Formats: sequence, C-alpha cells, structure tokens
Amino acid sequence: MVNATPFITTKSEEIFTAAQHLMPGGVSSPVRAFKSVGGQPIVFDRVEGAQIWDVDGNQYIDYVGTWGPAICGHAHPDVINALKQALDKGTSFGAPCAQENVLAEMVIDAVPSIEMVRFVNSGTEACMSVLRLMRAFTGREKIIKFEGCYHGHADMFLVKAGSGVATLGLPDSPGVPSNTTKATLTAPYNDLEAVKALFVENPDSIAGVILEPVVGNAGFILPDAGFLEGLRELTKEYGALLVFDEVMTGFRVSYGGAQARFGVTPDLTTLGKVIGGGLPVGAYGGREDIMAMVAPAGPMYQAGTLSGNPLAMTAGIKTLEILQKPGSYEYLDKITKRLVSGLLTAAEEAGHEVCGGSISAMFGIFFAPGPVRNYEDAKLADTNKFARFHRGMLERGIYLAPSQYEAGFPSLAHTEAQIDQTIAVAKEVFATL
Ligand SMILES: *Cc1c(COP(=O)(O)O)cnc(C)c1O
Repeated sequence: MVNATPFITTKSEEIFTAAQHLMPGGVSSPVRAFKSVGGQPIVFDRVEGAQIWDVDGNQYIDYVGTWGPAICGHAHPDVINALKQALDKGTSFGAPCAQENVLAEMVIDAVPSIEMVRFVNSGTEACMSVLRLMRAFTGREKIIKFEGCYHGHADMFLVKAGSGVATLGLPDSPGVPSNTTKATLTAPYNDLEAVKALFVENPDSIAGVILEPVVGNAGFILPDAGFLEGLRELTKEYGALLVFDEVMTGFRVSYGGAQARFGVTPDLTTLGKVIGGGLPVGAYGGREDIMAMVAPAGPMYQAGTLSGNPLAMTAGIKTLEILQKPGSYEYLDKITKRLVSGLLTAAEEAGHEVCGGSISAMFGIFFAPGPVRNYEDAKLADTNKFARFHRGMLERGIYLAPSQYEAGFPSLAHTEAQIDQTIAVAKEVFATL
C-alpha cells in the first residue's frame, strides 16, 4: 500500500467544494468530477513518471496519464528540458516555426495514411475539421459513426444511436440542433452488415465513415478480425472516405498507430493526445490530394491562433523521439499484458465476472461476462461494482480513470514492481467487493 490509512483528502475536498461555485460541476471537463464513481475527486498537486501527488500529500500510481499524453511518463526530463529551452524564445508566434516541419515530418513518416498534416489544438478540433474536409472533398453530407465512439464534442458527433436498427441521428445533448445531426448515421461497432445497409440506403450521399480503430471511449473494445478491412472495402466501393480517429490510439497501440498495427490504411486520420506530449495539440492528415483542399492551399477553411505553436510542437517532438527508442513498444506491451492478466486473474479468483484485454499501452476491464464487442455489450457491465473497485483502488494509492467506460494507460515510466504492486492492491480490493 502506498498511502497511510486513514485516507485523508481534506484539502482536495475544500478545493473541489469551492470549485463547484466557480466552474460548472467544479471542473473544466466532465469525467474529472467522478460523477460515475461517486465520491469526491482528488485535486492533483504534482505528477512525475508513473506517479501523482495530491494536495493532501497522498501518492498514487497513475493509469490515466492525463488521458493518454503521458505515454513516456509524466514530466519526462527530456520533454521538460526541451520545453524550458523553447520557453525562453516565447510561447506562441502566430507565424511559421521550424518545429512544425520537424513534427510534421515525424508524423508523416510514422503514420501510413498521412502524406500531409495540419496541426490544431485538440482532438475535438481535429475531428471537427476532418469532418468538414470529408464533406468538402466528396461533396456529400452524410457520415457514419459508431455507437459508443467519441470524436470530441462537436455538434455533429454528439449523437446517440437508435436502438436496434441503425437510424438517423438524434442529438445527444441539449443545444445541438437536430438539423446538425440529421446527417450523422450510426451503426453498432463491429457490425459490418449495418454499415453495408446504410450504404445501400444512401449510395450517393455518404461522405465517409469515421471510427476509433480500437475503441477507448466505451471502455476498451477491439475491432473484430476483418472489421477494419471490411470498412476499407465498403468505403472504396461507394466512393466514400475512411477516417480513423487515432486521437487516442495514435503513437500508442504502435508507433504508426492502429493503422500500422492492423495494416489497414484509411484516407484520413486524426491525432491528438500523445503528439502533444502533454500540451494542447491535435492534428489531421491524410492523402495529399485530399489535404490539398485545406486553406490556404484549397478552399476548405480552417484556422487557429495558437495552432502549431513552438511549445506544443517541442513537447510532441521530444515525446515521439523517446518513443522511437528501440524496445519502447515491446516494453509497453509487456507491462500492460502483465497488468491486465494479473487483474483478470485476481478478479476471477475473488469470484467476480470480468473480461478485458489490452493492445500495447491501452487496456480495459469490464465487470461483465463478455465478450464486449460493442457499446450494447459494454452497457451490461456492473458500473456499481466498478465504482466500489475504483474507490478501493484510489484509497490504496492506485489512480484509475473514474469511469467503467474509459481505457487505461500505462507508460514507459511504470516499473514491473509498480505493476505487481497494483495487482496486489487490486487483489485486496476485489476481496472487499
Ligand atoms: C480524447 C479524444 C478526442 C477528443 O480530444 P480532445 O483533445 O479531448 O478534444 C477525440 N477522439 C478520440 C478517439 C479521443 O480519445
């Protein structure tokens, strides 16, 4: 156990209570408020390597990694030092900087589909822009997305799927005009037949298909064998574009992302998280003939005051350099597999029904019988039990994402000893559930 008992979070509670009068729900992004697991969130003070310290001085082993960017470990000295040097030259230019070329080349070299890239400031922005580009390039309006996949919070993506049959989208949030989501068609993940049916119904009006090639936002869900290949064939057949949203999987499930790992090349790709190394960055890129549509090369407008700023580019470059070192992904694969098999075994030994898996440094566990192939399956998970598991782990110094429907992320900084300690703590918690 990392922390002393009792678990004291007085300062976190004070700060979070005050925050609730200052910001909606006390946070800048919803999941952070711990609503789905109950209890108060802890307020962070400092992060380093695989660890977090909160404002009360409690210490945790972290499996969120600021939702993905911290794949080399928090505050990696190479990243911090490079940032300090870049900082001396200013924070933002609003003009071209040489670091953009460096990161662009690295991204183009790494990601099979990307021949040209545009940097933006978040994954949301990347997805929103790629959607405009899909429509601009094809001259078609409809898109297909999958139930449970998250592509940021732009209006057109905030669509809940109708149950059973894939239907026209209904807005998922007040404030999203129904006209905006009318063109968003949805299908269950891993259901090629549903996608085919949508194409048959709308043969000339679908601009493209966007998906998480490995789902991390409905819990962790792998694509079935042939699913990505099938989407590639269908989109080609109907003159539509295939877009992989690799904001989470890019530079995580392999250096070249899910597309390199599975050998399926989309037309366009969105990136974020890892490529910003902890600073706000997103990117979209793809075939040169499509990217030529983007302003000022072409007519599709998209811009950003802080886009490509030297600090964000520097953090991204350093992060990718660290990942390029031989053995990085083998290590991530090894520790993540060790963690997941340890957790699953411990849960089963304690009599819990669980399923889960991992791919490189991305994993997930459901309190569900499994297999989980789509969002409907994921919804069968016992979220109540997860909430108690989460709390037990937190109190014992293990920080997991505060939702059953998020993936987990180990980093290069996680040691095998920390993995084993995590499994040992989980054993203790599983026994209490
Ligand atoms: C996180 C995420 C986004 C949104 O990125 P933000 O930087 O939070 O706007 C989009 N798509 C996927 C797959 C993500 O995981």
